[in-house]
Amino acid sequence: MPKYVFTFGAGKAEGSTGMKNLLGGKGANLAEMSILGIPVPPGFTISTEVCTSYFETDKNYPADLEVQLNKAVKATENIIGKRFGDPNDPLLFSVRSGARVSMPGMMDTVLNLGLNDESVRGLNRATGNERLGWDSYRRFIEMFANVVRGVNRSLFEHALQEIKDAKGVELDTDLDAGDMQKLVGKYKDIYRRELGEELPQNPKDQLWAAIGAVFSSWDTPRAVTYRKLNSIPNDWGTAVNIQAMVFGNMGEDSATGVAFTRDPATGAHSYFYGEFLVNAQGEDVVAGIRTPQQISLPGSREWAENNGTDEQARKTDYPSLEEIMPGIYPELEEIRKKLEEHYKDMQDVEFTIERGRLWMLQTRTGKRTASAAVKIALDMVKEGLITKEDAIMRVEPNRLDDLLHPVFDDEALRRVVTLAKGLPASPGAATGQIVFNADDAEAWAGEGKKVILVRRETSPEDIHGMNAAAGILTARGGMTSHAAVVARGMGKCCVAGCDDIVVNNADKSFSAAGKTFREGDWISLDGSTGKVLEGKVATREPELTGDFGEFMGWADEIRTLGVRTNADTPHDSQVAVGFGAEGIGLTRTEHMFFDPERILAMQEMILADDELGRQTALDKLLPFQREDFIGIFTAMDGLPVTIRTLDPPLHEFLPHTEDAQRELAVAAKIPVEKIKARVEQLNESNPMLGHRGCRLGIAYPEITAMQARAIFEAACECKKRGVDARPEVMIPLISGREELAHQKRVVIETAEKVFSEQGTRVDYLVGTMIELPRAALTADEVAEEADFFSFGTNDLTQTTFGLSRDDAGKFLPLYVEKGILPEDPFQVLDQTGVGLLVEMATQKGRRTKPDLKVGICGEHGGEPKSVKFCHRTGLNYVSCSPYRVPIARLAAAQAVIEENRGQS
Ligand code: PEP
Ligand code: MG
Repeated sequence: MPKYVFTFGAGKAEGSTGMKNLLGGKGANLAEMSILGIPVPPGFTISTEVCTSYFETDKNYPADLEVQLNKAVKATENIIGKRFGDPNDPLLFSVRSGARVSMPGMMDTVLNLGLNDESVRGLNRATGNERLGWDSYRRFIEMFANVVRGVNRSLFEHALQEIKDAKGVELDTDLDAGDMQKLVGKYKDIYRRELGEELPQNPKDQLWAAIGAVFSSWDTPRAVTYRKLNSIPNDWGTAVNIQAMVFGNMGEDSATGVAFTRDPATGAHSYFYGEFLVNAQGEDVVAGIRTPQQISLPGSREWAENNGTDEQARKTDYPSLEEIMPGIYPELEEIRKKLEEHYKDMQDVEFTIERGRLWMLQTRTGKRTASAAVKIALDMVKEGLITKEDAIMRVEPNRLDDLLHPVFDDEALRRVVTLAKGLPASPGAATGQIVFNADDAEAWAGEGKKVILVRRETSPEDIHGMNAAAGILTARGGMTSHAAVVARGMGKCCVAGCDDIVVNNADKSFSAAGKTFREGDWISLDGSTGKVLEGKVATREPELTGDFGEFMGWADEIRTLGVRTNADTPHDSQVAVGFGAEGIGLTRTEHMFFDPERILAMQEMILADDELGRQTALDKLLPFQREDFIGIFTAMDGLPVTIRTLDPPLHEFLPHTEDAQRELAVAAKIPVEKIKARVEQLNESNPMLGHRGCRLGIAYPEITAMQARAIFEAACECKKRGVDARPEVMIPLISGREELAHQKRVVIETAEKVFSEQGTRVDYLVGTMIELPRAALTADEVAEEADFFSFGTNDLTQTTFGLSRDDAGKFLPLYVEKGILPEDPFQVLDQTGVGLLVEMATQKGRRTKPDLKVGICGEHGGEPKSVKFCHRTGLNYVSCSPYRVPIARLAAAQAVIEENRGQS
């Protein structure tokens, strides 16, 4: 019989960290902590295999599971010295999910399982603490009803509020044993009323129901959404962790908390970052119901400063754990060190103190912001914990995106009104219109609006809205609240626990600083300082220096693949050079024609009846193009600049509405009928496969000649100005050698003419894009004419799949959802099909010309998995949009490390 259940506790375990796939992250780490001698309440883990078989067998369990489970319960009973189901001094369990990777807030937990009407009294007697017993029982009923049986939690919250209101108190801790006992009665009534049956009293029945609920929660819509957003396969399944309960709510010498071994927002580690609540249980800290206190004294002081709490109030109302439990704090510090030394990464831990005794409930690699990820990786190398290569592998390239986006402009910040200040839960600068629930956030964002989601507190149900929002603002909750944790994971700006704002969900408004803000009003959030700002605040480009610069320097030392950028303007080129681009891999010249000053000349060229007419119009365009290229060459001084000749079908430049056609008729002094006729004539049923790319230059060589002239005149002019221009002329959409040969002749003839006119020469290359399967298939012939290849994988994907780039969006998501395609091939290169063409064309091309320069300039050039593929395939460079340049640099470095480690 396969082993389904794995025990841990008392310094031993049947599992270990290496068994994450089988035991889930939580289970594997509980086992590992146990082996490390860290105090962990004993228990056992039911493997993820059981979850998979549960769904495969119509929610049934493997035959031997019950026997194995009973054995594990016995083992736990033996360690703890109590029996599960004992009415006098019962062993109680916590039942939690635990997938391979942590899914914050996604899966459900049941605590205090094993309590019933009889054993609650036994617990009261055994602990001498009646309040604890009744409190634990009412929590159990609520969690069991909600998690296992789907009863709405608000019914219980309402009953709790009623009792607090009747007593005139605010906090749960103000309720005594009698109140809790009354609540148990009310909760049982709710259970009966909602479900038409009594709460199960048999602990074994409770346990099996909870196990089933954890497995079933793998399939809840919010878990499915989270997996989709994070590309977690549906068939991984979750494990179930069943662990002896320890109580953080046994009085003033008990507490529960969550902590990070380093600051998850900034990566700093001058003190222990964490929060706790005295006399509280389980989810109280993350639920944001009471304001949590800080673990360390420096952390507490910093919190007070951020929160505007003076030292006296801090000391009396929110003292640190270091101050109130001086015996426990060093023990916790010791564990922090031990965990980091062992796991060699920042850990996110949960702990409970039961009557002065510390228990660790879980440890896992902590989620962090991108800037914290970079800082932690750098610091750990400097501390000798990890190598530079480890550091490079630690940061997911796409996360760098968070660091590359604008920050608030200091000048603008000085002028703006600060409405409120909360906790800087996840950094970033967000500006948007306020909405008050997740559905509105999603709907508004769907209309292209930028929104800030404002909530009292968030819950896992809000995840789609948080994903859609530019930023998140909550009135309650600490640095480890759901909003904070999820926002950091998503790289979203978040200000949490902002109690300066009062949220009124009913009329969709909040008030702050004496003003009322309604749905649709603009606010801005500074996730690095926790400030809530009035209106739209201007932003500026971030500076990529300090830690980021050093980290990227390491990536550059390691990588061998070049990284260029796709840029059409001097400004974009400059931004890209700032991000580390080593040249331009694609300038799409057509974008330059849309400028109002130029479009008319372009339109005249298209409308011309003969070559002479076209030439006259092209002559008007020439100086504009030349200026563009001078600007770009100057920005890229000394770096290669690949310029593509005209690519899109001509109809894209002509107006299609009656009004616009009339306007053009007046401006160009041409009858409107003629424009209409030309539009009609240029109309194609399949423009993507029509008269575009090199086919234009072949029909109208004078267009290619004008562009080549502009390029070479600009390059000569630059040379005269002392600027080192390195043009690489690129012909698009060829299907074989002859098209390239034709266009190349035009380019070379023009170059020679310009050089003799200018009395100077510049070095240049003429190459081609490989965007059609036929070009890839005949790459050996094409290479005879080409100085370089650049894979236009947007078109190559379109033509290999026979999938229209412009229409695929309507049905491709369905393909991904149904698992027919693993990912959208326009975003992530299809290595099996399109990739094969890339590989083959590279090899064939280099057979003809061993030193053929090969790059990629489709969207895939900035997508980490595709970049790694390009490295493995031996390309010389990738080219991507400026903001993705650092992502590509990091992915290229990771590709080398993976190769060296035999992982690629
Ligand atoms: C491509 O096809 O991959 C490419 C870069 O060209 P465009 O996207 O302009 O068609
Ligand atoms: Mg293309």
